[in-house]
Amino acid sequence: MHKMLYFDYSAVVLEFVLLASILMRRMTNGKSNSMFIMLVTISIFTTSADIIAVTFDNLGSEFYYEKMMSHSVYLFLRALISFIQLNYVIVLTDTWFKAANNFTKKIKLFFPIFLLAALMITNFFAHNIFYIDENGTYIRGANFLWLYVINGYYAVYGSMKIFRNSQMMDMSRIVSLFVGTFLMMGADWIQIMIPSVLIDMFACSIALLFIFMMVQRPEEITDSETGLIKLNTYAYDLKRSFINKKPETLIMIRLNNYLVIREMLGYRDTICVKRMIADIIVRYLRSSRVRADVYYIGSGNYRIRLENHDNAEAVKVAEYINDTLKEGIVYNEMQINLVACVCITNIPEDIDEFDSLSIFGNDFSAEYTGNVLYASEICRKSRYDIMREIDKIIENAISENEFEVYYQPIYSIKDKKFNSAEALLRLKTEKYGFISPELFIPAAEKSGAIHRIGEIVMESVCSFIGSEEYAELGLDYIEVNLSPAQCMENNLAKNMIGIMERNHVLPSQLNLEITETASGEIQNVVMDNITTLYNAGISLSLDDFGTGYSNMTRIASLPFRIIKLDKTFTRIKENPNLIIVLENVIKMIKALNMKIVVEGIETKELVDHFERMECEYIQGYYYSKPLPKRDFVKFIQAGI
Ligand code: C2E
Ligand code: MG
Ligand code: MG
Repeated sequence: MHKMLYFDYSAVVLEFVLLASILMRRMTNGKSNSMFIMLVTISIFTTSADIIAVTFDNLGSEFYYEKMMSHSVYLFLRALISFIQLNYVIVLTDTWFKAANNFTKKIKLFFPIFLLAALMITNFFAHNIFYIDENGTYIRGANFLWLYVINGYYAVYGSMKIFRNSQMMDMSRIVSLFVGTFLMMGADWIQIMIPSVLIDMFACSIALLFIFMMVQRPEEITDSETGLIKLNTYAYDLKRSFINKKPETLIMIRLNNYLVIREMLGYRDTICVKRMIADIIVRYLRSSRVRADVYYIGSGNYRIRLENHDNAEAVKVAEYINDTLKEGIVYNEMQINLVACVCITNIPEDIDEFDSLSIFGNDFSAEYTGNVLYASEICRKSRYDIMREIDKIIENAISENEFEVYYQPIYSIKDKKFNSAEALLRLKTEKYGFISPELFIPAAEKSGAIHRIGEIVMESVCSFIGSEEYAELGLDYIEVNLSPAQCMENNLAKNMIGIMERNHVLPSQLNLEITETASGEIQNVVMDNITTLYNAGISLSLDDFGTGYSNMTRIASLPFRIIKLDKTFTRIKENPNLIIVLENVIKMIKALNMKIVVEGIETKELVDHFERMECEYIQGYYYSKPLPKRDFVKFIQAGI
């Protein structure tokens, strides 16, 4: 019986084209890419073995050993494809770590393929799988069906795995994997029924092509500029790890000066720089035999997901990358400095949820020190848990009245007593305890809740100022913080004045603190608000002076009565040059006829220092932390 090889020829061409396109697109990084390449390569060998075997068959009665050998290789490789396909599914679902320490799972995975290898070897003597008869014809033996049972076993195993892990894959991926498996198995069974039709490998190659397009998705997986794996696959892979509860060690790399480099080099040359960095990482991992997936997730951000959850290895890799990138790179004879922030993050120890990981991925570079950073040191897990839910927490706090205004006394050096206080908002929740305003104020600004929060603070402060117990304290005024977003609110001045009038508060009893950013980007509506409040007799302070851009002309043109020097000015011990800056800043403020409050004073030494510099008011833990209203009243009544 002369067998046609057209299907096999087509299959081998298809497989070669597939392999070439994978390599040309540089889709070689990452476990799923490697496993897929292995699948295609083994298919090429299998199809070739089939072609050789059938060619010998067609040559007539000679070539006994060649026929035995080539058929054995083909049949074994064909089963190996099913085995590798199952492994590909395991890689896609990232569930290998579950089998790694489980003996039964390992048996279930490896036993059939070893059994088959043994059967193929013994077949040389036993002839129970197939044999070559005296006419030189290939004849199936009594145990031939075992081959298909083993192929079927792996196909069913793989399908069950896809089914069980379907929650972590999108529908089109799941369907494509099923279709691929079905194509391979279907053709296998047709081949059993009709041995003369050699469509098995052709169906395999079509299935591989289908999986390549629908599951491997070259456009989605590989970033063509760097050859690394793309953002959406990064998100997909890590979400899957969180679902699987799989421990991960991630090295996060962020180029802090990415935008500067882009501006300097332009789009095209930046791509080359990005690729050079990618090559540094990939080359090192290869040469030191560290297995890992490397991602480029945009804007100068690289991620390395190490295969081993091994901190010592992570430290070695991170140190090397940190040191190498610090040296910068030479591109087109230009020395390009890289400010790369490298951070080791352990999942789930440091971060146990994907959104928190994303937030952290944007944040960690602010902690740049030049050394390798450790997420365990810079992120408190709860902080990221809070950030994930912050909008809900704020809404809840508003409706449940969980916000409370605290007061921090401010000491007047001239009057030798506490003459005022700053109102500082506190949020205490059942689940997380106290949440810092540094977390919830920016979130409230983003969501717009700041306007309602602002009213809550104002209402609470004004009702305190209007009360009898306040009148007995002898304070001049209370300072209330206004965030930049509040300053842009159309009805701000009107609402504030409304609340004051309702509570019988005089304008002189209030002082509003505005931060530099707000006054820095003055817009008409901000200017209108400031002017209306000022004209109503309310005095204004400039908060956090020295932290942002200090636009002197603008500060001079705004009606501030007080400038609040930021905490950073208290670090004179660490930075003696600060004294010179301070002397001049103070001189300038005084020349503008404004008063000075120094914030963040924690020691007597600093109090004396700023007193010598003739600052009028001191605020800080040295005197008192912000206190709940009742404690604050007691504190002031007790005097100093
Ligand atoms: P801020 O207005 O600059 O407030 C001063 C911050 O310094 C307060 O932090 C205060 O607790 C802290 N502080 C005071 N003395 C010391 C000290 O001696 N050492 C140190 N290390 N810190 C000291 P807090 O209460 O966490 O508030 C942070 C920021 O949140 C505030 O900075 C303010 O910008 C904002 N904020 C607080 N309450 C409100 C509010 O009611 N409305 C608005 N819009 N913002 C608020
Ligand atoms: Mg303030
Ligand atoms: Mg401040």
